[in-house]
Amino acid sequence: MDPGAHSHIRGLGLDDRLEPRANSQGMVGQAKARKAAGMILKMVQEGRIAGRAMLFAGPPSTGKTAIALGMAQTLGPDVPFTMIAASEVFSLSMSKTEALTQAFRRSIGVRIKEETEIIEGEVVEMQIDRSLTGATKTGKLTIKTTDMETIYDLGTKMIDALAKEKVTAGDVISIDKTSGKVSKLGRSFARSRDYDAMGADTKFVQCPEGEIQKRREVVHTVSLHEIDVINSRTQGFLALFAGDTGEIKPELRNQINQKVAEWREEGKAEIIPGVLFIDEVHMLDIECFSFLNRALENELSPLVIMASNRGMARIRGTKVNSPHGLPVDLLDRVLIVSTRPYDSEDVQEIIKIRCEEEDVTLNEAALQVLTQMALETTLRYALNIISTAQVLARKRKSDKVETDDLKRSYSYFMDEKRSVQWLKEQQGALMF
Ligand code: ATP
Repeated sequence: MDPGAHSHIRGLGLDDRLEPRANSQGMVGQAKARKAAGMILKMVQEGRIAGRAMLFAGPPSTGKTAIALGMAQTLGPDVPFTMIAASEVFSLSMSKTEALTQAFRRSIGVRIKEETEIIEGEVVEMQIDRSLTGATKTGKLTIKTTDMETIYDLGTKMIDALAKEKVTAGDVISIDKTSGKVSKLGRSFARSRDYDAMGADTKFVQCPEGEIQKRREVVHTVSLHEIDVINSRTQGFLALFAGDTGEIKPELRNQINQKVAEWREEGKAEIIPGVLFIDEVHMLDIECFSFLNRALENELSPLVIMASNRGMARIRGTKVNSPHGLPVDLLDRVLIVSTRPYDSEDVQEIIKIRCEEEDVTLNEAALQVLTQMALETTLRYALNIISTAQVLARKRKSDKVETDDLKRSYSYFMDEKRSVQWLKEQQGALMF
C-alpha cells in the first residue's frame, strides 16, 4: 500500500446533499460507493456507528483504498486514520491480537486540553550572564506589565529564545510560561494591546494585582497507542520513532484507559474515534475475526473499514467457505459497499488527474494508449507506467510523454497477466 499513489485524493468529492460531483477532490466515478461512504461518515459524525464496520468489496484497482482515504480526508487531520494490510498482523515480534490491538489504539485519538499562562509586558531591564555556556546560562529579566513589575529568573531555554528574537529593553514581549516561547510584539506598550493578533483561542484574565495575564488553551491530539508506548517502562517514547514498540502489557492499557476516563470526566480530554482501514481483510484468520467481533463491541472502537477483492473464499484457519472470506457473524454487522470496474471515460479522467499530480504531460495519442492499457491490464498498472514513461521521455530530452515512451515502459515492466503468462511458459525451465 503506497499512500503516494493516492496523493491526488483530497476527499470524497460529494456536495452538501452527499451527491457525488463528477470530478472533485481528485475523485472520479464510482458514484454509488462514494455516496455510501459519505452516508457512513455522516453516521460516524453523529456517533451512530458504534459496533459496526464496513467492507469495500470489488475487483482490484477499483478505488477501495482511494475511497477509504477520501473518507479519512473528509474527517480532517485531527482524526486518526490507520492503514494496515491484513498480512502485517502476522509477525514474529508480536501476537496477532496484540498487533490488532495496537492498530485499534492507533486509530483512537485523545484530544488533550491544557492551559498555559502567558505573561506580557514591556522589558524594562535585562541582566543576562552570557559568560556561562550551555545548561548553566542564567539571567534576570524585569518586565513591566500595566502597573507592576515582574522579575524573572531565566533558564537557558528562555535566554536562547530572547536571543533568537533579539529582545532588548523597551521591547514588548509575551512569554508562554509553559513552553518558554518568547514573542516580540513591538516597541510600544500600546501595541501589546493588539490582542487579536494573538489568536482566537486567547483568553484574557485580569489579575487582582493588575497584571495582565492570558491563559491560552493548548490542544493536542495523540492516539491511545502513543500514550501506551510513552508510558510503557520497557519502551519509552523513543520506541515511537523506532517504530518498534513490542508488546504492551494489558495492565498498563487498563491503567491508561482509567486515566483517560478520568480526564474525560474532568473535561481535560475528549475521545476522537478514528478510522482503521484493513486492506486484504480475507488474509486475517478466524482468531483475528473473533478479536474484531469483540473489539467492535468496545466503547473505544474506531470505525473499522475493511477491503477485499475476493468473492467466495475460505476463512483462514477453517475449512469453511464464506463471502469475502469473512465469517458470517462478522459479515452480519458489516455494511458492504461494492466497487465496480471503471469505464474508459472514468479511467481517462483518473489518468489525467494522476498526470497533473505527478507533473507529467501526455500528448493526446499517449493519453488514448494509456487509457487502453489500463482497460486491458489494471488501472494501477497504467498509473505506475506514467512515471517510468516520463523517465524515458526525459532521456530523449523531451518534457512530453509520447506513445513510444509508453510502449517501451510496457515492454520493460510487466503487468500481472503477462507476468503470469511468462512464468507459465517458463515453468519447465524454472523448475528444479
Ligand atoms: P486492490 O484491491 O488491488 O487493493 P483498490 O480497489 O484498493 O485495489 P486503489 O488502490 O484504491 O484500488 O486504486 C488504484 C489507483 O487508482 C490508486 O492510485 C487510486 O488512487 C486510483 N483511483 C482509484 N479509484 C479512483 C477514483 N474513483 N478516483 C480517482 N482515483 C482513483
